[in-house]
Amino acid sequence: MKIAVAGTGYVGLVTGVCLAHKGHQVTCVDINEEKVAMMSRGESPIYEPGLPELMKESMESLCFTTDYRTAYRDAEVIFIGVGTPEKSDGSANLAYVYEAAKQIAQSVERDCVVVLKSTVPIGTNDKIESYIHDKQVNDVKIYVASNPEFLSQGTAVRDTLCASRIVIGVTEDHPAEILKKVYENFDAPKLVVARRSAEMIKYASNDFLALKISYINEVANLCETVGANIEEVTEGMGFDERIGKKFLRAGIGYGGSCFPKDTKALNWLANFNDNEIRTIRAAIEVNENQKFKLVKKAKKYYGDFLFLNVAVLGCTFKPGTDDLREAPSLVNVPLLMEDGAHVRVWDPVGEENFKKLFPKKIQYCSSIEEAISGADICLILTEWDEVKNFDIRKYETLMKKPIVLDGRNCYRLEDFENTKITYDSIGRKTINPELYIGK
Ligand code: NAD
Repeated sequence: MKIAVAGTGYVGLVTGVCLAHKGHQVTCVDINEEKVAMMSRGESPIYEPGLPELMKESMESLCFTTDYRTAYRDAEVIFIGVGTPEKSDGSANLAYVYEAAKQIAQSVERDCVVVLKSTVPIGTNDKIESYIHDKQVNDVKIYVASNPEFLSQGTAVRDTLCASRIVIGVTEDHPAEILKKVYENFDAPKLVVARRSAEMIKYASNDFLALKISYINEVANLCETVGANIEEVTEGMGFDERIGKKFLRAGIGYGGSCFPKDTKALNWLANFNDNEIRTIRAAIEVNENQKFKLVKKAKKYYGDFLFLNVAVLGCTFKPGTDDLREAPSLVNVPLLMEDGAHVRVWDPVGEENFKKLFPKKIQYCSSIEEAISGADICLILTEWDEVKNFDIRKYETLMKKPIVLDGRNCYRLEDFENTKITYDSIGRKTINPELYIGK
């Protein structure tokens, strides 16, 4: 089928490439000329495992352009995958979605289905449909369907090719049939529901996962106080199929482009409709506090950070991505610097993006060894494999004071027992606290 995709971010580009891989003729549209030039050369502008390879393989069925008119003119299906960032009041900013919808309305010259893949508040598809019908230039039938995206950054290609489910939200049969054809070669359960239900499935799913993370983080904080071990607790919980093992990893909170904004957007929508969604509000509050957990822990070892060398391992919101949106590093690193610390950052793929935000005063390191050498304390913010597989003895030999605060529980406690390293993680007892606390 002839398909166009508006927006080539983590969702749009992965969708476009996977649809081309499955045999469709896909044109990806973006307003960013630099990105379009890169993609036209076969290069991916985002870090996503497996994407560059699949992109290269599928280039014959893929093209990239800023010329939306040509791309949308005769497409049978047009996906909208542009961003829906958070506004200052917590609601979703739909300006990019409306702009893409306008461009589509002005361009299409044949009957087509416009598919909203961006995460949008409940009722948006209805509004976009009216908006497109108001703005359309040619006398053609334009259907609007909701098809929310559930991929995770870091595993986006796999999540798209082997999706847990494909949700199709429609108000009539025809667009559902077209979307079933689009996804014919995808081996995933296909669920056709009302459009507003599809929109809600997306928010309810993301917010449930965020809630699960905040819940386990609070349990972890309590474990520290009462002497239980969160890893043992979650292992014991995870055997219960009603609970499941996933999203039970305690840490310094969720980040990324989705959970923070989608929890706030649903909370905003509930309030706007004179409802309350107290569980989600709690998840948001818990997460805001959890982000600062390591800096608070550090106060046990040092009153302030003045003149201290602080090693920060990882600045992306999770491993497997170069995305920094809402990452704990964004609030913690400035806090450390304001408090007088000399900060050294190591991240295998996020460094370039972090440098754009913090070009000055930070020492960027090309290895973990370089970051921790002579450091007074080390904060682990992202659980990169390089950190998990790091020889922990090097913390002892290279750091000035081997105090390791692990916000992602990368190591086993017993590995630190016969060392001179103070190891303080989330929801577990601190190993060798006596070496540095109060010294
Ligand atoms: P992103 O910010 O990475 O990418 C958005 C892209 O859209 C940018 O390249 C931008 O230049 C482009 N764009 C903006 N206006 C445009 C226009 N009029 N025409 C063409 N391109 C335009 O966004 P993302 O992370 O891919 O997220 C997109 C949507 O998908 C959001 O609603 C998000 O909530 C949702 N989502 C994201 C993820 C994720 O993991 N990132 C997962 C599921 C759903």
